[in-house]
Amino acid sequence: MKALVKREKQPGLWLEEVPMPTIGINDVLIKVDRTGICGTDVHIYKWDAWAQKTIPVPMVVGHEFVGEIVETGSNVTDFYPGEIVSGEGHVVCGRCRNCLAGRRHLCADTKGIGVNRPGAFAEYISLPMTNVWHHDESIDRDVAAIFDPFGNAVHTALSFPVLGEDVLVTGAGPIGCMAAAVAKHAGARHVVVTDVNPYRLQLAEKMGATRTVDVRTEQLSDVQKEIGMKEGFDVGLEMSGNPAAFQEMIAQMSHGGKIAMLGIPSADMAIDWNTVVFNMLTIKGIYGREMYETWYKMKVMVQSGLDLSPVITHRFSYEEFEQGFDVMMSGQSGKVILNWS
Ligand code: NAD
Ligand code: ZN
Repeated sequence: MKALVKREKQPGLWLEEVPMPTIGINDVLIKVDRTGICGTDVHIYKWDAWAQKTIPVPMVVGHEFVGEIVETGSNVTDFYPGEIVSGEGHVVCGRCRNCLAGRRHLCADTKGIGVNRPGAFAEYISLPMTNVWHHDESIDRDVAAIFDPFGNAVHTALSFPVLGEDVLVTGAGPIGCMAAAVAKHAGARHVVVTDVNPYRLQLAEKMGATRTVDVRTEQLSDVQKEIGMKEGFDVGLEMSGNPAAFQEMIAQMSHGGKIAMLGIPSADMAIDWNTVVFNMLTIKGIYGREMYETWYKMKVMVQSGLDLSPVITHRFSYEEFEQGFDVMMSGQSGKVILNWS
């Protein structure tokens, strides 16, 4: 089968013929239909310091996908050929304290597909049945392909109650834009989204931000006054990984404000701990998706009218993957889909 492989320890990906994945008795074989390019794939493509210390070579990359089941292992129940599915990208151990307690997203022995085990940028992928998520037949296939990052957005945006609250989202990347849409859908009042990239701020507006702020030219404190906020943001969703954005978020929260932090800072970052203490802020780190409460919420929000389609801005065939990575790296995109069918 064809797959996008990290073949050499240098920038780039290689479209190659690789052996078909085999399935064990508990596994499901899926024919991949569409995939989404993630920031993680861009790190691997560029071969940055994180990728160099994390990715064994060769490796089939990619983890955001939708496809159709073509075969199941002898122990598999409830999954059948022809069904439309995505995969949870974190394969957990199933035996540690957190896994046994049903807190699988907290497993300390998580393996990432397309990172530590063969990924989804391929014609076929094999996954344990415990990692497979059924979609309704009616779901838009491009939207189904991005359930993994949508799940990051949902896990973060619903970490704290947002109904009737004022929400600040720092970073209007694809995940920040989806988080803004989720917060609005879940009943937030103001959803203010910051970035330094006008293309991305426009995208956030299309996704339901009530006010966008280019922090190069506007102050968040002025925006709060303009829209009539008196005591600061109730909930913060950090989606940029940028130290200045996080520091500004801390400064703009209400007393007792709650911050869910998804963005991954690339280096150490200082924050004003006095503000955290005296304003009694809560900061919660977020990794991945809750298995499978986040997935359930995603499905139900799509069914209840949450429209993610504006965040998908580019579509290519898998053979044009280099164009897909180029547009991702340009910053002038939302989600980029590669079609494998
Ligand atoms: P992205 O890089 O596409 O988006 C980040 C955005 O932040 C960009 O649009 C950038 O212009 C903006 N930004 C930069 N400086 C800023 C500033 N000073 N103020 C406001 N915005 C600023 O990333 P993404 O794919 O949308 O992912 C969001 C973040 O979440 C990234 O940091 C990513 O690494 C991280 N992530 C974490 C997990 C997890 O499980 N914790 C999973 C996926 C992604
Ligand atoms: Zn575990």
